[in-house]
Amino acid sequence: MISRNDLCWCGSQKKYKKCHLQIDEKLTALEQEGYIRPGRHLVMNEKDIEGLRKSAVITKGILDQVGERVKPGVTTDEIDAFVHQYTLERGGRPAPLGYHGFPKSCCTSINEVICHGIPENRALKEGDIINIDVTTELEGYFTDASRMFTVGEVSEKAQKIIDCAKDCLEIGMAQVKPFASFSEIGLAIEAYAISKGFSVVRDFGGHGIGKKFHEDPHVSHYDTHQKGMIMIPGMVFTIEPMINEGTYKLNILEDDWTAVTRDGKLSAQWEHTILVTDDGYEILV
Ligand SMILES: [Zn+2]
Repeated sequence: MISRNDLCWCGSQKKYKKCHLQIDEKLTALEQEGYIRPGRHLVMNEKDIEGLRKSAVITKGILDQVGERVKPGVTTDEIDAFVHQYTLERGGRPAPLGYHGFPKSCCTSINEVICHGIPENRALKEGDIINIDVTTELEGYFTDASRMFTVGEVSEKAQKIIDCAKDCLEIGMAQVKPFASFSEIGLAIEAYAISKGFSVVRDFGGHGIGKKFHEDPHVSHYDTHQKGMIMIPGMVFTIEPMINEGTYKLNILEDDWTAVTRDGKLSAQWEHTILVTDDGYEILV
């Protein structure tokens, strides 16, 4: 047991009573109401956040520059090569490469591909929509983000689902503040997506991130009817809603990675890595 005058468990060098004592007391009360208390290892300290900000610079740089490479005739392998080289040149490591055997440095998910599309020798064509998902590890700190890109002119419905997925990310982030529950993210996103006539993928979600690529909690983008884990300042995680034009159900292709919509209709996704702050959230990338 930690006592009031001990140094806080978070590494701040402050006394417990002047640091996390009040937060811990509030969490104990919420735990009694059925919410899940976040593990202390999920709280990043100032040094960790500094490391994450440096990692985020690379991830953001890639996403800011990759768009100009997205055009008809360019292969997803060429996009992957750019991501790989950009990351290495800045001292980072593309975290997807070798992750549970994933063969490339980023995910490229085109049209009916929901997520985890593997870059290949396939050329983009006019009218395609593509999600490019990048995760950088720099000095042990991971940041993860993705954006949608359009190849030339796209259909009205394609643009509509891209916009809806982006709005869903914004709406999900708006739920983030100290002592909110993670369940509120999915509740808000699903209600909005359904109001626009779309569905929300259930088999994949966001995740804690920081010193690992994937960490607790799992962040659902739909209503799970559970109380969920409580957010506190210093927690870092992704929100990355995958929004489908038709059914939310999916198939995994024989490569064991590529997730596609079961009805072959479009899917779109945007993702940020965010930090819970004292009064809300901050987008790291
Ligand atoms: Zn503390």
